Amino acid sequence: MRILVVEDEARLAALLQRGLQEDGYVVDVAGTGPDGLWRATEFEYDAVILDWMLPGLTGPAVCAELRRRGRWAPVIMLTARTSVEDRIEGLDAGADDYLSKPFSYSELTARLRALLRRGTVERAPVLQAGEVAIDPAAQLVTVAGQELSLSAKEYSVLELLVRNKDTVLSRGRILEHSWDFAFEPNSNVVDQYVGYLRRKIAARTDSVAIVTVRSVGYRLSERPALTTPQ
Ligand code: CA
Repeated sequence: MRILVVEDEARLAALLQRGLQEDGYVVDVAGTGPDGLWRATEFEYDAVILDWMLPGLTGPAVCAELRRRGRWAPVIMLTARTSVEDRIEGLDAGADDYLSKPFSYSELTARLRALLRRGTVERAPVLQAGEVAIDPAAQLVTVAGQELSLSAKEYSVLELLVRNKDTVLSRGRILEHSWDFAFEPNSNVVDQYVGYLRRKIAARTDSVAIVTVRSVGYRLSERPALTTPQ
């Protein structure tokens, strides 16, 4: 079993390496995000232990990029962060498990064994509406198989709409999901972003529509095939 440890704290990295080697694993260590990404892309690992805060690229960014490149080795994310949002961000980036620092070595190896028993699991895009497919692990949107380039906010709004396909979402709900700061209730920022998304999607497919539901909000629905584009 070959394990990659991506950790910039040299002492912790050395401790993990020594412990895991004594437990019979082959261990490589990377000290920066880009180096971790390169190793995990170039070589086959049975698992990756990935720190959150790293020079160059954060742990979640490394993980999301690995998933985008189709590398599915199980990832345990290490972090000093403890909020639920942070945990969700790590899991959304495609991490399989999550361990808060400080952690005990025996807990890490127990989690590692559980992941290794499960093995590498490829995850297909899970969200689909018409020709629009979203891979939340990689934060990647494709339309008819071609990547659609979106800003982080556009992605966040679209993912919410596709997850709740055929359900009307209020502007307030969309704001709460995609913006960190409370905007004034009258803010039209949601309408603006829905406008951006409509234009980008309409340029590529007419298989989905974001419908305005008057005085409530928006609903994303699939259009039946063979309708004429407007
Ligand atoms: Ca660190």
